[in-house]
Amino acid sequence: MSDSTPHSAGSVPAEPYTTVLLFGAPGAGKGTQGAILGRIPGFYHCACGDVFRSIDITSRLGKIFYEYSSRGELVPDEVTVEMWAEAIHAHTILSDFKPTKDLLILDGIPRTVAQAGLMHKYIDVQKIVHLKCENEQAMFERLRRRALKQNRFDDADENVIRNRWRVYEEETEPVLGCYDADLIFNVDSIGSPAQVLHDILDVVVPIQDKLFAGEID
Ligand code: ADP
Repeated sequence: MSDSTPHSAGSVPAEPYTTVLLFGAPGAGKGTQGAILGRIPGFYHCACGDVFRSIDITSRLGKIFYEYSSRGELVPDEVTVEMWAEAIHAHTILSDFKPTKDLLILDGIPRTVAQAGLMHKYIDVQKIVHLKCENEQAMFERLRRRALKQNRFDDADENVIRNRWRVYEEETEPVLGCYDADLIFNVDSIGSPAQVLHDILDVVVPIQDKLFAGEID
């Protein structure tokens, strides 16, 4: 991605993207499930953290990302949404994301109430899959294992993990209040990956079928 300041002009779609949000605390398994869904034709998975990580770390945006994420903090809202909008728009141009055929599975965005507001013009949220886990310790363990496997600087440090958890509770959980309660579907994230996937498919397949049949406008 270029070093220039992202701008929204040109990246606002004529029709908002038909979307399902994958929602949950760090370590809940959004990335794992999103990546599986993203391999099924008819679904397009976009993880905001991956978009950030694809930026050159020496660029202006890359430096902003490193500065915030290494403390376990969120990147400021406007920068985040503009960067995300540009990235997803680029995928529509490349045609690997076809908004009239592919159900967009968003993971890690919106992550604040302000982001949810800024994203209204971009996404039409059909459902929110909330990967829930009451067991904080189990999530910490998952994050630590992932940090070792993926060489992630933000999850290697216990304090950074704790901070990420606090930020989730304070800034991200309230996002659920921005949407109708009947759009929210809770899934127990501590189940086996196959069971969690099964529960998610129950929600997303009927939406993708409708989109494909042209029944969602
Ligand atoms: P995880 O899924 O483990 O919570 P991500 O890979 O989604 O982590 O994000 C890593 C880091 O990228 C976050 O800690 C944050 O600094 C930044 N980030 C990702 N998504 C957003 C977002 N929507 N808003 C602000 N910052 C974000």
